[in-house]
Amino acid sequence: MYAIQTKQNRSFPGVVIAGGGVAGCAAALGAARAGARVLLLEEENAPGGMAGPGMLAKWMPGTRSPLREEIDRRIANSELAPPNRTEGLLNECLKDVLFQMLEEAGVELLLHTRVVDAECENGQSPVIVINSVSGMERIESPCLIDATGDGTAAVCAGASFEIGRETDHLCQGASLMFQIGGVNPDIQTLPESFNLPYPVPAGDLGALGREHLPPPAGHVLLHRTGKPGIICANMTNAVKFDFTDVVQKTRAEQLCWKQIRAIVPFLRRFVPGFENCYLAGTASRFGIRESRHFHGDYRLTEEDIISGRRFEDWIACGNFFPFDIHNVEGHGLDPAGKLNMTHHFYSIPLRSCLPVGMEGLLLAGRNLSATHKAHSSCRVMPICLNIGLGVGVAAATALRLGVTLRKLPIEPVHRELIRQGVIPPEEENNVRSGEPAGSR
Ligand SMILES: Cc1cc2nc3c(=O)[nH]c(=O)nc-3n(C[C@H](O)[C@H](O)[C@H](O)COP(=O)(O)OP(=O)(O)OC[C@H]3O[C@@H](n4cnc5c(N)ncnc54)[C@H](O)[C@@H]3O)c2cc1C
Repeated sequence: MYAIQTKQNRSFPGVVIAGGGVAGCAAALGAARAGARVLLLEEENAPGGMAGPGMLAKWMPGTRSPLREEIDRRIANSELAPPNRTEGLLNECLKDVLFQMLEEAGVELLLHTRVVDAECENGQSPVIVINSVSGMERIESPCLIDATGDGTAAVCAGASFEIGRETDHLCQGASLMFQIGGVNPDIQTLPESFNLPYPVPAGDLGALGREHLPPPAGHVLLHRTGKPGIICANMTNAVKFDFTDVVQKTRAEQLCWKQIRAIVPFLRRFVPGFENCYLAGTASRFGIRESRHFHGDYRLTEEDIISGRRFEDWIACGNFFPFDIHNVEGHGLDPAGKLNMTHHFYSIPLRSCLPVGMEGLLLAGRNLSATHKAHSSCRVMPICLNIGLGVGVAAATALRLGVTLRKLPIEPVHRELIRQGVIPPEEENNVRSGEPAGSR
């Protein structure tokens, strides 16, 4: 007789992390390498989030990230990579590399495990409730990091937030990423940016997309995957949905499937090299660019990014990416976020990862406290890696010193981050030149 156990209790004497995307994995590695016990909870069957199950094909360039360098090095040496690999992230190798790194660091990983609730006694770290094939379990720990992207654990614990753009709460469009097979492997260039023309025999591909694809689809963004003949399409587009509502999220994903039915024949018809293309795979994780913005002790702003601000309590630095707001009402880019350039590395303070009024809880990744516009820069994966690493090290340091996160002296956090390969803001050449290509 097999009984589903309900609400077993356990106490974990270390850092518990909800969500094993890039930010959650980075937090786990940062905390474990700083000496903490770490439990990482992930609802998918592999780590990586948007970089793994989400099928994204490239790190946005420009940011300095020691973890990104380590992951890239390991992927480059992976026995699992295709011998004639192209440019591109190789999601399956990335998952494998993360599995190895987490294991080597001693991270206790639970897959197929969804954080479904969190309870918060005043002044205490949240107790989370997880659900898995084993049943429900409550886990108490001195420190919880929410790296779920949507901030599911933080919401349940009572952290306050707002959704999307400040004025009307609209969010950047979501995309179901998919891969296209049967593409001529010798193709030289791809339409990788909203900004650049891409001439094809019938005209400019961007204009053809706006004319022939069903709105709100309409832009044409294609990237190499690392696998010859397989291209990643960032072309589905679901706008004006609340992605924190499961009915709306489902409708949005259904809409993306409808778009895929039009996009594949469109590429076959118009793009040289795509004449025999087919749908090779879809992401198992729907690509949500924006949902909840939590209220943190500090909210990162557009000005902080433009000025390359160096916060004294930085936990992530060397960050660099332009504002990149996908149109919240249609295809293409929003006029407010047209990849306008910043010229500095910027840092992110610990305070942006501390939800107002909550103890023992940290935010990592795209759910940190930032304005709609600031978030459009710091949401990219290399910056989420940096945020996760910083938050993980901060959590481990607070546990080691036996202090609360708000009483945490920042110097030991910086010392550990530097030991883990971070170049501190005072040592970086802060003025950037050159423009990162593309938009995500
Ligand atoms: C369509 C799209 C295209 C993009 N393109 C690029 C690009 O080309 N380059 C780039 O650098 N950035 C890109 N970005 C931005 C970037 O991918 C994300 O902002 C970044 O990956 C966020 O990292 P994260 O770890 O915070 O969240 P995620 O990568 O979303 O990870 C969250 C993790 O938490 C898990 N999870 C969620 N809820 C629970 C729960 N309740 N219990 C347990 N686990 C849970 C998820 O399964 C997931 O693994 C893109 C984003 C999107 C949506």
